[in-house]
Amino acid sequence: MKALVYHGPGKKSWDTVPDPVIQQPTDAIVAIDTATICGTDLHILKGDVPETKPGTILGHEAVGTVVEVGSAVTTVKKGDHVLLSCISSCGRCSYCKQGRYGACTGGGGWIFGHTINGTQADYVRVPFADTSVYKIPAGLTDEQVLFLSDILPTSFEVGVMNGKVSPGDTTPAAIRSRRSWP
Ligand SMILES: [Zn+2]
Ligand SMILES: [Zn+2]
Repeated sequence: MKALVYHGPGKKSWDTVPDPVIQQPTDAIVAIDTATICGTDLHILKGDVPETKPGTILGHEAVGTVVEVGSAVTTVKKGDHVLLSCISSCGRCSYCKQGRYGACTGGGGWIFGHTINGTQADYVRVPFADTSVYKIPAGLTDEQVLFLSDILPTSFEVGVMNGKVSPGDTTPAAIRSRRSWP
């Protein structure tokens, strides 16, 4: 398949690489239909994110179509049109149980295009598919849902949850009642 591969600070190329394969029974393989370039990708390319190793496929936001699922996956199937979250959730650790998926200690969190291969490619391996992939309702275009991939989980977890914003709050009230910033 073709993929955008990071080769160290300032270096990237559109390479031919092996297709991803199922590694865990909880994985899915998704064909990428639409993806973004995020500001975070530009930080990686500048060398600001040292944990992203040369050889990693970039990208963490995408809409795609499921082409294969592992034996333990039950919520999506081949042919489903899905949104990939930039944040993967193991679904089992204490943070995931509180909805704080970005802090997942079970192997999730921000991993796509960071510590595992990402979404700027023909295909991506998606860990924890049951708890990290969202089926898209019929009738919506890729562009209508694509930005829910990162902007929604990031603003919800970093802004709303950390800011302790509750239903019915106005923003100034929420800011006054906050206990700490992240
Ligand atoms: Zn992003
Ligand atoms: Zn977790």
